[in-house]
Amino acid sequence: MKALVKETAGPGFKLKDVPEPKIRDDEVLIRVRCAGVCGTDVHIYEWDEWARGRVKPPIVVGHEFAGEVVAVGSLVRDVSEGDRVTAEGHIVDGRCLLCRTGNAHVCPHTRIIGVDRDGCFAEYIAMPAVNVWQLDDNVSFEVGGIHDPMGNAFHTALTAVIPGATVLVTGCGPIGLFAIGICNAAGASRIIASDVNDTRLELARRMGADDTVKPHEAEAVVKRHTAGLGVDVVLEMSGVPSAIHQAFALVRVGGRVQMLGIPATPMEVNFATEVIFKGITIYGVVGRRMYDTWHQMTRFLRSGEFDPTPVITHRFPLEDADEAIHAIKSGEAGKVIFEVS
Ligand code: NAD
Ligand code: ZN
Repeated sequence: MKALVKETAGPGFKLKDVPEPKIRDDEVLIRVRCAGVCGTDVHIYEWDEWARGRVKPPIVVGHEFAGEVVAVGSLVRDVSEGDRVTAEGHIVDGRCLLCRTGNAHVCPHTRIIGVDRDGCFAEYIAMPAVNVWQLDDNVSFEVGGIHDPMGNAFHTALTAVIPGATVLVTGCGPIGLFAIGICNAAGASRIIASDVNDTRLELARRMGADDTVKPHEAEAVVKRHTAGLGVDVVLEMSGVPSAIHQAFALVRVGGRVQMLGIPATPMEVNFATEVIFKGITIYGVVGRRMYDTWHQMTRFLRSGEFDPTPVITHRFPLEDADEAIHAIKSGEAGKVIFEVS
């Protein structure tokens, strides 16, 4: 089969013919139709310090996808050939303290497809049946293929109290954009979206932001709409240190900061003034809760109140991997996807 492979320890991906994956008795084989391209793939493509420390080539890359089940192992009961599915890409042990207390999203033994084992930028992928998520008939393979980053946004937004809340979203990349649509559907009273990039602010407006601002304008707009107090909730979705400081500064006393963005290097925080004396709660987001986030996501899509499709701006075949990576790096794209088959 055709697959995008990280072949050696160095920059780039290679489109190759590789053997189809074999499935175990508890796994299913999925024909990939659409796959999302993500910042993590860019790190692996560029072979940065994180990628060098984590990824062991050769490996098929990619972790966001949807497709059709074409074979099931002998122990699989609730997934059948022909099912339209996506899957949770974090494979957990199911046995540890975290998994057995409803917190599998922080299982210390997590293995991620496209990072720790073969991924989905390929015609076929093998997945444990327990990770498979059925798609409603009216959910396209495109939308199915972005359930992973959409799920990150659902997890970030819906572990805060959004109905009636004033919300600041710092960073309008694909995940921030999804989060704006989710907050809108969940009944936020005001959504202020901040980014340095005009293309992304325009997408933020389309996803339902009430105000779209550059970072230096955020303080005045937040103060104006919150009687000078600050917002109830900040969704930090940039990972940029100045935006993280701004999140602490513009959340109200007793408010909540949901941290999804990952700073590239350690940063200094004045815990006394930025966190403690403000009495705020900080929540660190890892992936998607298994499987509460997934149920919420499916129900929001079913309701018709949340539509992620404006975020998808670029579509490429696997052959154009370099262009897809370039589109992400340019900052001019929303969500970039591969149309695999
Ligand atoms: P992205 O890089 O496309 O989005 C980040 C956005 O922040 C960009 O649009 C950028 O222009 C904007 N930005 C830059 N400086 C800013 C500033 N000062 N104020 C406001 N916005 C600013 O990334 P994405 O794919 O949407 O992911 C967002 C973040 O979440 C990244 O840091 C990514 O690494 C991280 N992430 C975390 C998890 C997790 O489980 N915690 C999962 C996936 C991604
Ligand atoms: Zn575990």
